Amino acid sequence: YKENKIVVVIDPGHGGKDPGAVIGKNRHFEKDIAFAAAKTLKVILEELGYNAILSRVGDYYISLSERLRIAQMNNATLFVSLHADKHPDKNISGIAVYTLSSKASDAESEALAKRENEVDLVFDSKFSETYDQELRQILISLFQRTTMTCSAQMANQVVYQLRKSHKLLRSPHRFAGFKVLKSPKIPSVLIEMGYLSNGEDRKTLLSKRGRYEIMVAIGKAIDAYFDSNKTCLVSS
Ligand code: ZN
Repeated sequence: YKENKIVVVIDPGHGGKDPGAVIGKNRHFEKDIAFAAAKTLKVILEELGYNAILSRVGDYYISLSERLRIAQMNNATLFVSLHADKHPDKNISGIAVYTLSSKASDAESEALAKRENEVDLVFDSKFSETYDQELRQILISLFQRTTMTCSAQMANQVVYQLRKSHKLLRSPHRFAGFKVLKSPKIPSVLIEMGYLSNGEDRKTLLSKRGRYEIMVAIGKAIDAYFDSNKTCLVSS
């Protein structure tokens, strides 16, 4: 029965009026690629025995804070956000995984998190913090140490599994202040599945098989993560 299963919330980036990265004359949208990948990962995780829940189940807009709320409401034990970025330099390619940090690992990661976080400012007029700032900080620091350790373990597994079969970005585990990763109690990672601006990455991400192979590796990473980090199994 589902209650005994580990809940993983898969978060397809963007949606609806927020397309994410848009590329090429065929206007491929990041939101569609993220959604297709998320559906594939859901099937793979269900086969592995997880209760996999999507944060959005169609092409509609959902704020970053709402995504976090969905993870909390479903007692998620892990939150995996899927994205595909673009870069002005077409030669830049490879997969990267991000975990939360107040200090970004490099300027590019910081700029990426800033772009992603701005979505709420632009589209979600009713966005407001749930707790007042001071209480929020206390709660966050109480839980976040464990959560951040678990998130980093998960990122390590993603890198380890994907490295066997895929090209990764230079220093593929990166840190930045993504709002969507800020659940105090739910370990969270954001995976940039590649660059839509790069020919090879785009080809992979637009093909069913290409997405499937990335998702299989992520499924293996999730399995290995839960196997080797029992302390991260406590759900929110
Ligand atoms: Zn994105």
